[in-house]
Amino acid sequence: MPDPGNSRRKAPAIVILGAGFAGMEAAEALGRAGLPFTLIDQNNHLFQPLLYQVATTTLQTAEIAAPIRAILSRYPGADVLMDRVIDIDADRKVVTMTNDSIPYDYLIVATGARTSYFGNDALRQHSFALKTLDDAVRLRHQILTAFERAEISRDDATRRKLMTFVLVGGGPNGVGAAVATRELAARTLARDFHHVDATKTRVIIVEAGDTILPGIDAELVDRAMETLSAKEVEVRTNAKVVAITPEGVDLEDGHIEAGTVIWTAGVAVPDLAAWLGAEADKAGRIVVGEDLTVPERPNIWVVGDAARSLDEQGDPHPGLAALAKQQGRYAAAAITAACHGKAERTPFHYSDYGHMVPLGRFAAIAHVKGWKLSGLIAWLLWAFVHVLFLMDWRRRLMVTLTWIWSLATKRTGSRIIINRDGVELPQPDPAHQPTDAPKHGVA
Ligand SMILES: Cc1cc2nc3c(=O)[nH]c(=O)nc-3n(C[C@H](O)[C@H](O)[C@H](O)COP(=O)(O)OP(=O)(O)OC[C@H]3O[C@@H](n4cnc5c(N)ncnc54)[C@H](O)[C@@H]3O)c2cc1C
Repeated sequence: MPDPGNSRRKAPAIVILGAGFAGMEAAEALGRAGLPFTLIDQNNHLFQPLLYQVATTTLQTAEIAAPIRAILSRYPGADVLMDRVIDIDADRKVVTMTNDSIPYDYLIVATGARTSYFGNDALRQHSFALKTLDDAVRLRHQILTAFERAEISRDDATRRKLMTFVLVGGGPNGVGAAVATRELAARTLARDFHHVDATKTRVIIVEAGDTILPGIDAELVDRAMETLSAKEVEVRTNAKVVAITPEGVDLEDGHIEAGTVIWTAGVAVPDLAAWLGAEADKAGRIVVGEDLTVPERPNIWVVGDAARSLDEQGDPHPGLAALAKQQGRYAAAAITAACHGKAERTPFHYSDYGHMVPLGRFAAIAHVKGWKLSGLIAWLLWAFVHVLFLMDWRRRLMVTLTWIWSLATKRTGSRIIINRDGVELPQPDPAHQPTDAPKHGVA
């Protein structure tokens, strides 16, 4: 292991791990306070709530991701390291990365969560996740390639399978991605493909529980179900997935033949509990106190998706971007106060602004400050908030213009297949005659 004393001579006292919503908010607050800090992340900053729009070809990658050092370039005290954290020694106060190690006086851990397969890694092998930018690009490749393969296939069963998409997990991410996939097929691809009828594409949400969107107001869930039905997205509740194979999804009581399975059923926090020697919940989230520090470690804050924090009623906070931002800001304020010699800490309080779930073109549900909204008004609110939360004005403008263009023309602009995994692209079928043959029916 590298010697932390020698590895970085000018070691900053404040270190932030992870530049997602929580880490970036902490960094901005420290930067504004004029405090120097080091921020470590292995990726770019990513706006995860719009990932599904990259996967379903509405947005491009650069519209929802940005280099961390570019965002923080206005703060001279911001030192950005693109590296992977592989350990934390809380006794020696040292963070170890793949290439180096760094000491800290104050540490903010904001490394988020990863896709979880509930200990059954076989579920990963034949499914697509939607958590990172790579996931979104890979999924976009898969969706577009599925239609290309269907277009050149002459076998009805093969086409039916290729044009069936299963989303495992009926949470907001799964539901949003399902509607977007169905709209991509029925509105945009239906015009582009001449041999298959993309309007017949099946998109099925499979949820193990007895309702989709758990935790959201029942009346709004009913309205979401009506919208899903109107947009021809199928929903199967009480359907537990036992296996995912190249043929599709095996349920406890049946099988769905599908060419693409998208896994949005859960997230977990690996490694952190072992690194910190701290208590964690079943998903690996670190149990923090009311000031978001690790018990017995008053100089380590764990914030955002990596933490299990409780509200005033003792219920766990939800895994939301707004919560992560508020926690990042809170940790930075506590460190700023400590740097100015103020030791007192008030408990963290979450200002809950509610939930929103996008349901495709001009549709969403929103539960905000007691108001239950759906349809166009909820969609306008959802769009406004998401544009506002993007990292800079250039991206806000680009995304707004892209949405206007795409809503007006019913077409998406990012239908580029990037074959980054060397996946075999569809080969022409020698028997296929590209004439004015009628569309293949896909029931
Ligand atoms: C598809 C999707 C849609 C979502 N939609 C919504 C929504 O509509 N509204 C909402 O409020 N929330 C939504 N969420 C949840 C929201 O994005 C998360 O709650 C939020 O991102 C948590 O912020 P965070 O800073 O804790 O973690 P993240 O944003 O996940 O950031 C963690 C950062 O840590 C870095 N990192 C992790 N491990 C390491 C390591 N070992 N070394 C170096 N760097 C590391 C990662 O690269 C990442 O940049 C969505 C999530 C997903 C996946």
